[in-house]
Amino acid sequence: MSLLPDLRTLMFAHGVFLLSAAIGFFTAAWCLRQFHSLLLWAISCLLMGGGTLLLALRGYVAPEVSILLGNYLVITACAVLVLAIARDFSSPIPRCRLLALLVIATGGVSAGYYFLPNTDLRLFFSAGVCGVMLIDAARLSWQKLHEPEMTGVLLGILLPLVLLVVGCLLIGALAMMRFLGGVPLVEDHVGGAIFQFGWLRLGAGLLIMLSLQGLYFSVILFVALRLNMRLRHEVQHDPLTGLYNRRMFEDVATHERARWLRGGDPFAVLFIDLDHFKWINDGHGHAAGDEVLRTIASLLRRQLREADVIARFGGEEFCVLMPGQSAQNAAEIAERLCHAVADLCIQWQGQSIRLSVSIGVALPQGSVETLESVLARADQALYAAKQGGRNRVVLQAA
Ligand code: GH3
Ligand code: MG
Ligand code: MG
Repeated sequence: MSLLPDLRTLMFAHGVFLLSAAIGFFTAAWCLRQFHSLLLWAISCLLMGGGTLLLALRGYVAPEVSILLGNYLVITACAVLVLAIARDFSSPIPRCRLLALLVIATGGVSAGYYFLPNTDLRLFFSAGVCGVMLIDAARLSWQKLHEPEMTGVLLGILLPLVLLVVGCLLIGALAMMRFLGGVPLVEDHVGGAIFQFGWLRLGAGLLIMLSLQGLYFSVILFVALRLNMRLRHEVQHDPLTGLYNRRMFEDVATHERARWLRGGDPFAVLFIDLDHFKWINDGHGHAAGDEVLRTIASLLRRQLREADVIARFGGEEFCVLMPGQSAQNAAEIAERLCHAVADLCIQWQGQSIRLSVSIGVALPQGSVETLESVLARADQALYAAKQGGRNRVVLQAA
């Protein structure tokens, strides 16, 4: 049975699919401009689709267009694909290697067209060298595989890439074997030879097409997942300091309280308020105030444990939940924080800014006490610290 119509039809359908997928990628790149890699994926998809379509049209359009341009587009698409993967994973791009492989592949295809016209030689340079190029993309995805919450979708990217590499290298190796074996090939430029490759090459071709389609689907999923993670981060964090916001703090605190009620560790709550912060804004400007808030946030991160939950509650107020702390420990830690802030000397446009904080501390007094009540008592303790002259810690008894 002749494979000629089948492979051509498959390639044609594959090219059309990729072109329509490219439209989707361009639309996504336009709508989600913060994901720079989407434009690269769109370009790669467009080039791959266009190149495949031209290769499938061999014999129907000028050979320079179908054979040469088709191969150039597919090779460039592979290089752009590696760039897109590197951009997605914020990995360094092996620029020199990529450029060298691009030159070798396009140069080899040109030589196999003009100087030594031979389909196998061209196939070796286009498929084989693209396979080598894609090894970098597979390597970069492999390195990212351990990312939490992403493993599934990263496997969806890695697996097609590995299959792509295998398919491309297989086609490249078969082409070279035929070329070296001196298998006579009629270079008729009308499409006979390239579509008569036998079952192994048809299988490898199918593998490449399916892997590419799977890869582009996984990339869309990957972007959706990252978008979801970014939105979740924005909902849970304060943009200025990067700390949890009030909503997230209350969620985590509710969780901690439930754990404590089940027999877990007790916890302490610290309410921290910057003293006379308005003076800093008035005296040095709002930007200086923002810098002070960022500095306090990083001081809290440095001074507290990984297990402690730190949040910016609003304005110049911070809240900390410390699991596993007795009242005395919590008060000591609060004192330490108070001193650390008083020792700070923030430089802002050639001026030194000094500041202090007041801290209210409270611990749940029994299983009936609600979280709101503990927070309210910490707030009362903070108020007492302010009343007491600021730059101090007050522990709220039950
Ligand atoms: P006290 O010692 O009694 O706490 O006095 P204070 O000046 O710290 O408190 P007050 O509530 O009078 O002022 C808080 C100021 O914090 C007023 C507001 O403009 C400022 N502020 C709130 N959010 C931000 C912010 O995101 N950036 C900056 N720079 N200032 C902020
Ligand atoms: Mg204040
Ligand atoms: Mg305040």
